[in-house]
Order: sequence, then C-alpha cells, then structure tokens
Amino acid sequence: MGEYAELDCPALVVGGSLVGLSAACFLAVQGVRPLVIEKHAGTSIHPRAGYFHIGTMEAYRRIGLEAAISEASRAQFGPDGGINAVESLAGRELARHVPDINAGVAPYSPCRRFFMTQQSLEPLLHDRAAELGARLRYRTELVGFEDRGDQLFAEVRDLENGEVNRIRTRYMIAADGNRSPVRAALGIGVSGPGWLSDSITIYFRADCRPWLEGRQLGVIYVVNADQRGFFRFEAGGTRGFLAVNTLGDLSLPDAKDVSGDLSPKRCMALVRSAVGVPDLAVELEDVATWKAEAVCAEAYRKGRVFLAGDAAHVVPPTGGFGGNTGVQDAANLAWKLAMVVKGEAGAALLDSYEAERRPVGQLTVEQAHARYIRRVVPEEITADTPEMRDELTMEIGQYYRSGAVIGGRGEDEPACMHPDATQGHPGSRIPHAWLEDGRSTADLAAAGLTLLLGQDAGSDCTLPQVRLPVDAATACGLGPGDALIARPDGFVAWRGPASDAVAALRSVIAP
Ligand SMILES: Cc1cc2nc3c(=O)[nH]c(=O)nc-3n(C[C@H](O)[C@H](O)[C@H](O)COP(=O)(O)OP(=O)(O)OC[C@H]3O[C@@H](n4cnc5c(N)ncnc54)[C@H](O)[C@@H]3O)c2cc1C
Repeated sequence: MGEYAELDCPALVVGGSLVGLSAACFLAVQGVRPLVIEKHAGTSIHPRAGYFHIGTMEAYRRIGLEAAISEASRAQFGPDGGINAVESLAGRELARHVPDINAGVAPYSPCRRFFMTQQSLEPLLHDRAAELGARLRYRTELVGFEDRGDQLFAEVRDLENGEVNRIRTRYMIAADGNRSPVRAALGIGVSGPGWLSDSITIYFRADCRPWLEGRQLGVIYVVNADQRGFFRFEAGGTRGFLAVNTLGDLSLPDAKDVSGDLSPKRCMALVRSAVGVPDLAVELEDVATWKAEAVCAEAYRKGRVFLAGDAAHVVPPTGGFGGNTGVQDAANLAWKLAMVVKGEAGAALLDSYEAERRPVGQLTVEQAHARYIRRVVPEEITADTPEMRDELTMEIGQYYRSGAVIGGRGEDEPACMHPDATQGHPGSRIPHAWLEDGRSTADLAAAGLTLLLGQDAGSDCTLPQVRLPVDAATACGLGPGDALIARPDGFVAWRGPASDAVAALRSVIAP
C-alpha cells in the first residue's frame, strides 16, 4: 500500500443499496455513525424488490420512517393488493395465492405489509441515514481489506478520480449483494438448491387498465405456454415490469436461459403474451438480467467482517423474502455492533449474529425455493419439495437460539415458528399490543435494550424501564412480578421474575 489518507470509522458498510442503507440507519439510530461506500453513483435505478413484510415495516417504524413509506407506497400501488396467478392478464385466473396481503395481520403487528419499488424506498433510507449521522459515499469501491485482528483496514477507490484511500475501522458489514466480492475474498462458500434460471426483468409502459380495473393486485404470476414469471404494475396500470423466469416447455434445454435473447422483438412478444393481447402497444423502457438462485452462505462472519442481505443469502423473488430477510439481518446486527463499539457489551455478543440469523437464512432459502417450485415450475414438484410454511411464521416468527438469549429456541425446534406458538418466549419477537400513547410494545426498545415490567414488578436494573398496562403485559406473557428484556430489533432476550433482571442483563450483554 502506498501513502494513503487514512480515515477512521467505527463501522464500515460496503454496499449502499437496500440492506447497506438499512444497516446505516439502524446503526446511526443507536448512536454509531457508520461510513457507507457504494460503487454506483446513487441509489437503485431499478424497481426490483416491491413486496415488503410487516417485520420490515416494524424496523422502519422504529427509525421513524413508517409514515413516509406508507404515503409513498399508497401513491405507487394502493394498499392491500393481492397475489394471484393467471394464464395471461386478460385471460383465465389460475389461482388466488393471497387475496389481500394485510388480511389477518392486525392482531400481530402495529404495521401493515406494503408494496413499494426499491428504487423509491432507497432514497428515503438514504436521507434518514444521513439525517441520523451516517456518512455516505457514492462512486467509491472497496478494492481490498486486511483484518488485523484488533482492527480492519479497507482500501477504497474513488471512482471519480481513481484515488485510493485507506480506511481504518473496527467492523465491516458486507452488504455488497449476491456476487459479494467480500464473501469471495473471505473464502466463504454457499450451499442450497443453487441456480434456478437466467431470468430477466422487462420494464415497460402499456395501457393495461382494461384488465386491471377493479382488481387490487400487487403481484400477478403468469403461467402459460410461452413463459413463467410475474408482473408488478404501478398504480394507474400503464407502467410496470414483467419478470420472466422460464420459457416455453420446461423439458427443452434452453427453457431456463431467458437472458439468451434480449432483443426488443422478443421482449415485446413476452409482454404481449403475458398480457394476452397480441397487438398491444408496448413501449420498452429497459431490460435487466439476473440469476434466480437459492443459496445461503456457509458462514455469516469471519473475524471483523459480517455478511448481510444478498451477500449472505440469495433467494428467488417468490414470496418476497430477499430484501426483507436482509433488512432483518441488518436490524439484528446493528444494535449488537453499536453496543460493542460503544463499550456497553462484550465482543462475544457479536457471535450471536450468525447463531441467530444463519438458521433463519437457511430456512428462508428452503421456503423461497419451495414457493418458486410450487408457484412457478410446478412440474418440478417432487416428494422432497418442502411444504410451504405460512407467511406469518416466515415473516415474524424468527425464533433465536444464541448466547444473547436466555432460554431461547430448543435445539430441535425450527428457526421460525408461528407467533401464536412462541407468544413472547425468549428468542421470539415481542408480541404486539397497543399502548395508550399510540405506541406498540414492538416500539419500546427502539433506542436500546429496555426492561418491560409487569404491573407490580420492580428492578435495580440499569436499563430504561417501561411498566406495561395489564393487557400488554399479559400479551407479552408477563405476570405482575415479571419482567422481560426487549431488544432494539424487537425480540425478547430474557423473560422471568423481575428480581433476576440484573443477572439476566449481565448474561445478555457479555454472553
Ligand atoms: C425482479 C426482482 C424482484 C424482487 N422482489 C423482491 C420483493 O418483492 N421483496 C424483497 O424483499 N426482495 C425482492 N427482491 C430481492 C431484492 O431486490 C434483493 O434481495 C435486495 O436488493 C438485496 O439488497 P442488498 O443490499 O443485500 O444487495 P444489492 O441490492 O445487490 O446491493 C448491493 C450493493 O453493493 C454494491 N457493491 C458491490 N460491491 C461493491 C464494492 N466492492 N464496493 C462498493 N459497493 C459495492 C453494489 O453496487 C450494490 O449497490 C427482488 C429481486 C428481483 C431481481
């Protein structure tokens, strides 16, 4: 290395897309100002992720973004769309997978699921991260790093002038996407079902209002003799994208190589076939290629580097798990890194990131793959194709077992269980109950670990304390003399008699 200007930062985030920007917000809100570097000139230019889970909105609610996101989402898509499958938009409906994405959600969460393009979500995250104190640098690429055990040095190139600088940091989060150069440099492999297809996304304008009127649909799967894929339309019905996963007869050799021919003629034909109107006027805006894959990294951490988002797991879009799982990775890691960086917790707390998130990542890969097989290429269903676990289980049923949870999930229990089964057991999500001031129990630890107390409970614990009204305490499984330690990512670290809270906290922060 030459004579580089050295910059210091407590945490370096590589990748300024959905997960990197979310991590920046979650770190900054905990009082740690990360540096985010992104090689592109700005936030995402393609819509990509569009379906967001309630766990994601809860995490964004805790950083004050719920209202802005809801407003933008309603303007783009309208609320509560459904998910169905058709032969073509103008043709026969084959299945109604989800009639209304928010049916049955209210008892479990203060939030609602939403549709929004990644392209318009990312600027909101960017602005919030900057407002909270994160530093963000675009056109800046990580070109190398060295983990020296007690600190990490990263080499970054300014893509405007070619200058290379050295950054000294305590920890690095690799949110650098599915090809993750950082994961490759660390020699961390991936495993899982693997490659599914060379897919494409066709962005287009066409007047599809006649076939969308009166149908509130967020995702429309298309299964016909020409193709398998899905549509997503913006409100108004004149603009959207068609993602195409396979072509024609699946037994033909090139059926899964959709990206082989990107000519306007072929893309136009695919859109017309999916709409079901052979002479539809279509204006093509762009075509993106991507690999549908289902894999999980074999480790989420090496030394001072943590993988998050697509760097840690890649799933087909079916079910909308990719970005959502990454946001939860970021929420899980950020408060732990912040406590360690601020000297409030022992470094061993960071071991709980992989212990908690990798089993969830593996189950998510399995479930996204199962949804892809069952919804997109049902000819490939075999006796080994897993059953689909229900959406609430996968979205908010993460059930952790680690040194940062006292008495969490049993060794032989699944990584996600329905919230009705866990009911605020340590390692599961804090059950939602409304409080008089409009907050939810899920909001109470937004700023840091917090002790929630039953009606008569008292404790010398140094954490901020909130006494819950009887209904909310009961929802959280707290008797009058009980307490629980709520984590900033919305999970329960410990629950028991309030008199044990001091010892419990010691065990959680220095596991
Ligand atoms: C058609 C489609 C539909 C989808 N729908 C959904 C959905 O409905 N819901 C959902 O949750 N997910 C969905 N996804 C998945 C979602 O888009 C991804 O999971 C999400 O973008 C992952 O975010 P990320 O930040 O981990 O990675 P990415 O978005 O890939 O971002 C990684 C960033 O790192 C940057 N980078 C890489 N290397 C370097 C380097 N060396 N230095 C600096 N920067 C670097 C890249 O430029 C990039 O901006 C969909 C994906 C597709 C393709």
